[in-house]
Amino acid sequence: MHADDLLEQQFRLIPTQKSALKRLGLRTVRDLLYHFPTRYENPGTEAAARTLVPGGKAVLFGTLSNLKARKLWKSRRNITEGWFEDGSGRVKVMWFNQPYMASYVQEGALVRVTGTVGGSAEKPYIANPEVERIAASDIPTGIFENQESAAENPAALFPVYPETRGITSRWLYHALKKVLENGAHRHIPDPIPADVRVRLNLPELADALVWVHEPEKLTHAGAARKRFSFEEMFALQTARAQERAENDAESAFEITDAEQHVNTFLKNSSFPPTGAQRRAIAHIIADFNKQHPMARLLEGDVGSGKTLVAAASAYAVVHARPPGRASGTLQVAYMAPTEILAQQHFESFIQYFKHLPINIALITGSGCKKFPSKVAPGKATDISRAQLLKWVANGEIAMVVGTHALIQKSLEFQHLAFAIVDEQHRFGTRQRAALARKVVSEQNALPHFLSMTATPIPRTLALTIYGDLDISVLDELPPGRAQVTTKIIGPTDRAKCYEEVRKRIVSGRQAYVICPRINEPDPTKINALMAKSAKAEAIRLKKEVFPEFEIGLLHGAMKPKEKDEVMRRFTAGEIQILVATSVVEVGVNVPNATVILIEGAERFGLAQLHQLRGRVMRSSHPPLCFLVPQTKGEVSMKRLRALEKSADGFALAEADLETRGAGDLYGRAQWGVSDLGMEALKNPRLIEAAREEAHAIIAKDPTLAQHRALADRMSRGALELHAE
Ligand code: ADP
Ligand code: MG
Repeated sequence: MHADDLLEQQFRLIPTQKSALKRLGLRTVRDLLYHFPTRYENPGTEAAARTLVPGGKAVLFGTLSNLKARKLWKSRRNITEGWFEDGSGRVKVMWFNQPYMASYVQEGALVRVTGTVGGSAEKPYIANPEVERIAASDIPTGIFENQESAAENPAALFPVYPETRGITSRWLYHALKKVLENGAHRHIPDPIPADVRVRLNLPELADALVWVHEPEKLTHAGAARKRFSFEEMFALQTARAQERAENDAESAFEITDAEQHVNTFLKNSSFPPTGAQRRAIAHIIADFNKQHPMARLLEGDVGSGKTLVAAASAYAVVHARPPGRASGTLQVAYMAPTEILAQQHFESFIQYFKHLPINIALITGSGCKKFPSKVAPGKATDISRAQLLKWVANGEIAMVVGTHALIQKSLEFQHLAFAIVDEQHRFGTRQRAALARKVVSEQNALPHFLSMTATPIPRTLALTIYGDLDISVLDELPPGRAQVTTKIIGPTDRAKCYEEVRKRIVSGRQAYVICPRINEPDPTKINALMAKSAKAEAIRLKKEVFPEFEIGLLHGAMKPKEKDEVMRRFTAGEIQILVATSVVEVGVNVPNATVILIEGAERFGLAQLHQLRGRVMRSSHPPLCFLVPQTKGEVSMKRLRALEKSADGFALAEADLETRGAGDLYGRAQWGVSDLGMEALKNPRLIEAAREEAHAIIAKDPTLAQHRALADRMSRGALELHAE
């Protein structure tokens, strides 16, 4: 057996197993070896589906499946039934009069189930349990507190793999046993160079593979897991270091007199920049003066004023002449994730730049605009795509704002010198790169690149995933912002909370009501489902709660034109309450909206809640945020309480990493980091070391010719991103 052998060559697989393995991304024997248990079970000490005692309380970790709602024939009561499953077996679960439970968790999602066991020893069930979605790392390791006995009785440690339809943990256990007995794991070259491994005291690959799958002691499993979490972070960092080295070997446009232009801009700005804005702008000016393109990330909490930093630096660029020319200017591209945002930024930049003799354009999927209009100067006008393409290509348009429509090949710039990506985490790596790498063939220069994000993440995560970028942080909010009040609302406080909203609106403010996202793998369905809940809520509020107010609706399934119209009416104050799905999460700016009510708050991630709350922190009016959870699990309440206590996104991110460990809240899948990889992030020294080692290797061996195993590991990316 060889690590590169296909699993279907080595194992007899039935079609459902084949498709399950495919879904898990397990193709080869090596993939299987890198598919790690989420935990180790000591069957004697843990509550497991197999060992339930009727009358007792059970806290179980596993998955739910086949949830179905129906009506009981006699009582006409609603009942939702299904199965809970963990590594040991399965048990029936049911809820009465909670039909929404059927769609509450996704089939196969990892959950914690808490409830009282009913039925008999042969046929136990759990009625009305509490269910909470969790990340793998939420599963307590406390079950191993009795480590001595586990060590004495090695057979007691049983690996539990993330289950998925078609592949059981047991199958994986036996398959891996076969692989390890065969010895295929001994011939995989170790991606971590020996000297690095020794310096950091990490086990070598072959040992770690045995220890992670068949540990005799938990300390072995721990050492192996540490190694693999380091390995993942190290591979990521090396990839980033390599990208950075490539970037620094490119050339960029010279932005002449940047400092002078920026100063002019700031002098004319309607408010003085904060210290943090000044520092970030200084970093950018320094980058503009270098030979190679800037590669910088601007991190700043919602409302910290990233747009001003972008505008000040863009201002310098649209004042600079292309090399060797006596007329014309260098060009700027500004990419935003949604049409609403692109439109808003287009308008902001018109405000910033309207006194300049330059053209600004907007390009989105639904059309193009240009400012100023030839017929009505001072206004923007619709133009055709063909016109826009032509004017961007011949340099007549200095600044283009847009959605990902900007990265279409047909959009060619004459002198693109500066590319800005706003809310960069909403774009894929490839989309960002497509903008950063818009080469201007004639000059062969790459644009300076500024990425902006309001998603606060722990520092160790930033160092890793943004290892190719220099980072500027806006750690200071513009002055005059009132402190936000955040309150968790129980079912009985709803009326009071609506009164509070009413008071605000009567005094001239506006409100958001956010309806939850429903976790649904099919994005077309997400929109439909979210639309339904937001729509239903808008109707209910109008009918039952706020008949006197104008209520608007905004969700992802609406046409761009409809969305624009709703946003326009909300901005103009024609709509008092905007009921929306999380489409308003990013960057929407309506300062007069000062209260937000978030339904089903426990379904949102902490980062997302923090962003949503940021929507009402855009003025000097005291902002108010109501969190209305639908269920009250312990973990999610802890999370909501953290939000109640702190308004600092970065502090929240660090706290979250500490308490939860997993990156689930911060969308680990979105960063391309596995649960296990996230474990390394709790260890700043390990991450710093990974960064240093990665840069040292790239400095000596930029193409990784001497580090083939590492290069190979890099191409494989994150470890198991399972159980979604
Ligand atoms: P974000 O960082 O979330 O993109 P914005 O750039 O949208 O934040 O800025 C939020 C609000 O703060 C805007 O209304 C903007 O005009 C205002 N603002 C930005 N910088 C300052 C400043 N230095 N002083 C006062 N207000 C500012
Ligand atoms: Mg913004």
